[in-house]
Amino acid sequence: MVEENVALARYTTIGTGGPARRFARPSTIEELQEVLRTDDPVEVVGLGSNLLVHDDGVDALVLKLEGELAAAHVEGDLLVAGGGATNAVCLHRARAAGLGGFEFASAIPGTAGGGVRMNAGAYGREWKDVLVDAVVVDADGARTLTVAELDLSYRHSGLRPGQVVAQVRFELARSTPDAVKAKARELLEQRKATQPTNKRTFGSVFKNPAGSPGAGRMIEECGLKGHRIGGAMISPRHANFIENPGEATSADCIALMAEARRRVHERFGLELEHEVQFLGPLELPPL
Ligand SMILES: Cc1cc2nc3c(=O)[nH]c(=O)nc-3n(C[C@H](O)[C@H](O)[C@H](O)COP(=O)(O)OP(=O)(O)OC[C@H]3O[C@@H](n4cnc5c(N)ncnc54)[C@H](O)[C@@H]3O)c2cc1C
Repeated sequence: MVEENVALARYTTIGTGGPARRFARPSTIEELQEVLRTDDPVEVVGLGSNLLVHDDGVDALVLKLEGELAAAHVEGDLLVAGGGATNAVCLHRARAAGLGGFEFASAIPGTAGGGVRMNAGAYGREWKDVLVDAVVVDADGARTLTVAELDLSYRHSGLRPGQVVAQVRFELARSTPDAVKAKARELLEQRKATQPTNKRTFGSVFKNPAGSPGAGRMIEECGLKGHRIGGAMISPRHANFIENPGEATSADCIALMAEARRRVHERFGLELEHEVQFLGPLELPPL
């Protein structure tokens, strides 16, 4: 069933943004194919953990995968996950089956499908290192795409708007539940030591330019840690994060991003590219 004017702020980790004009929660591939028979532009929300939604909302059909499309199970050494399965559920299934190799995702609060779209990664590993293939559905039907066909590189995939990752298969390695648990805990502790883990953020704001000291370090060197515009603030903990302490709008986040990007360009001569994905007519002003 398609709903109208559904508030998206509660579907994002930063907690800002307006409504989706149309919104549907398909729970099987058949339902997904059914809702994709539309003339509207189609967008997908995973866990909304790398997403900024326009304050006026999105003039599109926005999908949130549920049911079978958000479940995960193990088949031999393969973890088979719906595109909407959270990384936490995936890790739980892998751990219970004594499969290792997905622990790097323990600190990434997204979904299996969002991870494909972003080629998410941490601690030197990324989706493409464990992914076998993904079932991608669009208005023309369902196709299984290999890692090579998905064209994954640093926080990039070749997926086009309207293409929905409905299922993924990860190939993992034999381990033990205790070893998986210990590794995931160790990585989470490392994460807590350096990044804001209990604040409303959308993860990394900008990609790290190759050969640079990193977006966070450069923004910090511009003196912007703790800098506020409206209700949004550059994290005092890690400068490549924007926090919403309560009253931020997406426009505040964009203004902070524009300021950080301008200052880094002035000081380092580098053009930061945003990692966070925009939903609705959001854009950064030219430098
Ligand atoms: C505290 C915090 C820490 C983070 N740490 C990391 C990190 O270490 N490494 C890292 O890579 N990222 C990190 N992130 C960012 C984010 O968690 C990842 O990019 C994650 O993979 C996004 O998944 P999602 O399901 O939340 O996608 P969303 O944020 O909902 O969407 C992101 C993009 O993926 C698309 N998308 C989502 N689901 C699908 C689907 N099923 N099919 C097609 N497209 C889809 C959306 O349309 C959008 O373009 C962090 C975020 C937070 C808040």
